Amino acid sequence: MSSFLPPDPAVERRIRELGENLFARMDASPAPGIFSKKGAYARVMEWSMRDPAFKTQLFRFVDVLPSLPSSAEIVRHLQEYLGDQAVELNPAMKAGLAASSFAPALIAGPVKRNVVAMAQQFVAGETPDDLVQQLRANARRGIATTIDLLGETVVSEAEADHFLQRNLAVLDTVSAALAREPAPASSDTGAGGVPLPRLNLSVKISALTPDVHPADPENSIAALKKRLRPILRRAHEVGAFINFDMESYKLKDLTLALFKSILEEEAFRAQPAIGIAIQAYLRDGERDLRELIAWARKQQRPIGVRLVKGAYWDYETVLARQRDWPIPVWSQKPASDANFEKLSVLLLENADLIAPAFATHNVRSVAHAIAQAERLGVEPRVYEFQALYGMADELKTALIQTGQRVREYCAIGELLPGMAYLVRRLLENTSNEGFLRQKNMGEATREQLLANPVDSLAQSKGESGKSKPLSDSPAPSAPPLSPSAFRNAPNTDFSQSAPRERQRAALASVSAALGRRHPLVIGGKRIADRAWIASTNPARPTQIIGHWARATITDADAAVAAARAAFPAWRATAADERATIIGRAADLMAARRFELNALEILEAGKPWIEADADISEAIDFCRYYAREMRQLDRPRVTQAVPGERCVQRWTPRGAGVVIAPWNFPLAILCGMTVAPVVAGNTVIMKPAEQTSVLASALMDIFVEAGVPAGVINLLTGFGEDVGAHLVAHPQLDFVAFTGSRSVGLKIWETAGRTLPGQANLKKVVCEMGGKNALIIDNDADLDEAIPATLYSAFGFSGQKCSALSRLIVLEHVHDEFVARLLAAAATLPIGDPALPGTVIGPVIDAVAQAKILGLIEQGKREAKVAWQATLPPAVGAGSGHFVPPTIFTQVKPEAAIAREEIFGPVLTVIKVRDLDEAIAVANATDYALTGGLFSRSPRALERVERELMVGNLYLNRGITGAIVERHPFGGFKLSGGGTKAGGRGYLENFLFPRAIAENVLRRGFTPPEAGVAVE
Ligand SMILES: Cc1cc2nc3c(=O)[nH]c(=O)nc-3n(C[C@H](O)[C@H](O)[C@H](O)COP(=O)(O)OP(=O)(O)OC[C@H]3O[C@@H](n4cnc5c(N)ncnc54)[C@H](O)[C@@H]3O)c2cc1C
Repeated sequence: MSSFLPPDPAVERRIRELGENLFARMDASPAPGIFSKKGAYARVMEWSMRDPAFKTQLFRFVDVLPSLPSSAEIVRHLQEYLGDQAVELNPAMKAGLAASSFAPALIAGPVKRNVVAMAQQFVAGETPDDLVQQLRANARRGIATTIDLLGETVVSEAEADHFLQRNLAVLDTVSAALAREPAPASSDTGAGGVPLPRLNLSVKISALTPDVHPADPENSIAALKKRLRPILRRAHEVGAFINFDMESYKLKDLTLALFKSILEEEAFRAQPAIGIAIQAYLRDGERDLRELIAWARKQQRPIGVRLVKGAYWDYETVLARQRDWPIPVWSQKPASDANFEKLSVLLLENADLIAPAFATHNVRSVAHAIAQAERLGVEPRVYEFQALYGMADELKTALIQTGQRVREYCAIGELLPGMAYLVRRLLENTSNEGFLRQKNMGEATREQLLANPVDSLAQSKGESGKSKPLSDSPAPSAPPLSPSAFRNAPNTDFSQSAPRERQRAALASVSAALGRRHPLVIGGKRIADRAWIASTNPARPTQIIGHWARATITDADAAVAAARAAFPAWRATAADERATIIGRAADLMAARRFELNALEILEAGKPWIEADADISEAIDFCRYYAREMRQLDRPRVTQAVPGERCVQRWTPRGAGVVIAPWNFPLAILCGMTVAPVVAGNTVIMKPAEQTSVLASALMDIFVEAGVPAGVINLLTGFGEDVGAHLVAHPQLDFVAFTGSRSVGLKIWETAGRTLPGQANLKKVVCEMGGKNALIIDNDADLDEAIPATLYSAFGFSGQKCSALSRLIVLEHVHDEFVARLLAAAATLPIGDPALPGTVIGPVIDAVAQAKILGLIEQGKREAKVAWQATLPPAVGAGSGHFVPPTIFTQVKPEAAIAREEIFGPVLTVIKVRDLDEAIAVANATDYALTGGLFSRSPRALERVERELMVGNLYLNRGITGAIVERHPFGGFKLSGGGTKAGGRGYLENFLFPRAIAENVLRRGFTPPEAGVAVE
């Protein structure tokens, strides 16, 4: 793809002229609005532009306000959010806030009114009647309208149905009202006096179904079409135009695919009139637009394209950084402007088929489009400008005065669903680099405001220089790693088609090669003459994944001998070399990611994204522990004292056994193995029976990476015999175990007995289960809390030690939250994890299935089954080990289902009075593994951080999915020994510290430094 537009002096001159003309007209008719200097609200906005910390707190307060039930709550939140910030800005405000507790109603009323007034600046009304009034008012000013119904997140079919009905109702009422309006707006007339659809509706597809899974576009599109078809049919009947808004990047490809696919259906090939937004801030923007135009030409389908820069810049940037994915948006503002200009020309060049709509408040972007249209001979009635309600009113007027068509985007709806929209608008208006702020706050000169963005880029020498075409610059990738740096392996972005195809292909090739035999590996020898045990697919138990060799007690003893024999040489191997070998294993896993994913999907029954995250974690464990070992290997000075060199060094413990579970079959086995191994120990891996084929694949990787014979031994077998034998073995020095509480406690006890001939006290690293609680506060953001709750409880069918099993809901929000939660739960796709859209797959085996079903039956005697999924016929009738996800309400904290770990898709809901009771209930358990809180009260968050006794606390997010280094994982009480996998200090569990003191004073002379690294 080529670079941004080359400079054209004639066009530039014309842009200046047009821009100056527009500015002059805008000055002549100033409109009241967000930047008007009058009123308390304007002052608050001004503060927020001056002080970013205040802005954050203010917008957070605005966000939570609609959910606050009383004046006291409003005042409490106001104080919590703005109390400290207010001091610096205005001491009087601080005093006012302090006094407000005594008369909350006196403060809360005006505050609410002010926020409502703020929202009203951007929201045209609540009802269709308000909308009709607005359409009329716009028409009088010559402005056409597009309607946006507020409400973005739907979590259930009922909410999506409601949104559909609202859209249909608006199409009906507004078309009826317009029929009675004789005069269209001047902007409702296109080229050659042709009337344009007066009713124009903008739709966000995410509100059309709760069932959108970017990894599964086929089924998502099918679900979306169910509600889109009635809208398009009705639009056709009433002659309305439908525009698809463009939302976040993860939905972009899906939205484009949906748009094309539905318009290829016979019923919609010609009608209704339809358009879609394209975001110029995306690096993909040009490619997408070219493909869209080519598609429209092939179909001979006129469409509209609304060109926007894009409303989610911060979100996309933060999210991509957090996940280490390529950042999809340009990183400099002028790059978005320059791309907008380039795409403007592309649209105008194709205006015979594509109706261009330039949605911008930026005078330069507007003037550029007009100048290019003049150059290309495209007359003004062929294209239009669009602007948001409540913004850039002077620009709208100036454009109408100069004969341009203008359409206003009018959001209507209730305040509560409108808050996300309001906060986006506030951010847009106060953004440092935004045109509106720079113009209205006088932060840039006219010349700067009208400057060519390509020049601005060249001057800033940013994104790329002039010598390098901007569009050709790749998405920024992470900077190169220094040897001591660690970065998490990014998970696969299955919203992109290329990795999806690779995963499908890997599933096909792995499935075709199943059924092989996987021998024991002891001291580098493969032992293949043992009994073979079949490992099967939990979703389709007749499918054999492979056969693993069943180790005997003699094999276990041989493995101990091999591990002990390999220990001296491995201990003597330089830590750096050990780390390099383990790093190589990580690279091999990364190279085989899709194949390993496939094996895990088939053998453990994990859905795609869960399997993929497990592979990432395994890679992370290797790289993180390798980095840690390199650091630990440097002798640490214990005290810097003249004449004596005092250092501490580490030495490995010896040989040990690793007993791993099936639920994170690669990551936990790999992590518990590579930590001791990179530290210089030797290990016997005893994987879970259910996932022994994957363990064998891991063993192959270790061998290929160069782990010497005997350093890691693979002993597939049964826990009761070889596992128990190894735990008690006097010649093993440590046990690393993750699994159930009953087995963990037995191991702890057995390992505590020191037998004759035992060289060391046996170290046990023990991670067990949890009965994890999530508290939902009265002011929680329910749109966020509902999906997080469901995923935490039911992701991988609840078979994670971190899974949520006790949902503790404060009474004010309980009924509303639970009603929405139950409706949302019904949308979770249950099925074969080999299908990309599956969220809930089977449980691991028939034993687990029977146990969980039994516990559900027991639960029915203790609480109310509020919801239980009906298994879809495809799995319900099969022999797969499926358990219907179940939610119990009216659960007493002391009930067995609220106390015992279930390890399946079962959620109990406990209602509590207040946060005191919530914390007490959450802490009243034998376990302390994960826990969380959804709240928008800073004080509540602080308090739970101090008082909720868990190893991993998650605030305002789901409570599963720990990431190496970022969330060191592990709990205490009966959840484990307090160790933190993937965190600092973990390796020390497998090492003994040694202190060395050397007298370096020789006849009164001492070296200037002891020659060791000082940390
Ligand atoms: C009628 C209408 C409909 C809209 N529909 C949609 C829609 O469907 N989807 C959607 O996403 N948005 C939509 N928007 C919102 C639109 O994206 C923002 O209003 C618009 O980006 C503001 O651009 P501007 O040209 O008015 O302002 P400007 O101030 O010139 O541009 C601001 C924009 O620049 C971009 N930007 C900011 N900082 C940076 C940076 N550091 N690097 C790179 N780029 C940066 C962002 O996109 C930001 O919004 C719509 C806007 C209008 C007016």
